[in-house]
Amino acid sequence: MARYLGPKCRLCRREGERLYLKGSRCHTAKCAVSKRAYIPGMHAFRRSRLSDYGARLREKQKTKRIYGVLEGQFRKYFTEAERLRGNTGENLLVLLERRLDNAVFSLGFAESRAQARQMVAHGHVAVNGRKLDIPSYLVKVGDLISPKSHKKSEGMIRQKVENVTGHTVPGWLSLDAKELKGSVTQMPTREDVALPINEAFIVEFCSR
Ligand code: SF4
Repeated sequence: MARYLGPKCRLCRREGERLYLKGSRCHTAKCAVSKRAYIPGMHAFRRSRLSDYGARLREKQKTKRIYGVLEGQFRKYFTEAERLRGNTGENLLVLLERRLDNAVFSLGFAESRAQARQMVAHGHVAVNGRKLDIPSYLVKVGDLISPKSHKKSEGMIRQKVENVTGHTVPGWLSLDAKELKGSVTQMPTREDVALPINEAFIVEFCSR
């Protein structure tokens, strides 16, 4: 699946807030949002107030960028969220949250979702004891997430888990940091998504 390969800080600057796309750097004074607090591009200082349409568009773009998915894939998640029972916006966030790369990041196995995605794609992660290299795999209750049984994968993930600071594993996952084993104890809910996302705006934009 395609992915964005351009500068990540540019995405945060476009949204005007920290999206935490680069791991530890995002928590330092080097963060581009604090250093250059204006949107990228030559017309940065000419743009006017956001229209209602613009605000909804930005919310969708921001969410795509946080989870590292492109438009086509995002639309597929939206279609699936509409098909499922319940609130479409919440369903959408739950589907995004269930991505394997997000679960790997949420367990603290990686510094960012992009790094987690690369770890998965490079075959360092196993689900239920078997290597799984599909970042978009949707985890389900009972899944066991661990490093692939290889010294390099285990060493890399142990280092991340030991060095991570201020990271809280969300309530739908549990982590045995000693054994490097994470498990999905329940489906994520909207309350587990601790991100500044207005899902109602996304639904309004995508339902037009
Ligand atoms: Fe975004 Fe992190 Fe870059 Fe700051 S350092 S602009 S939070 S990617």
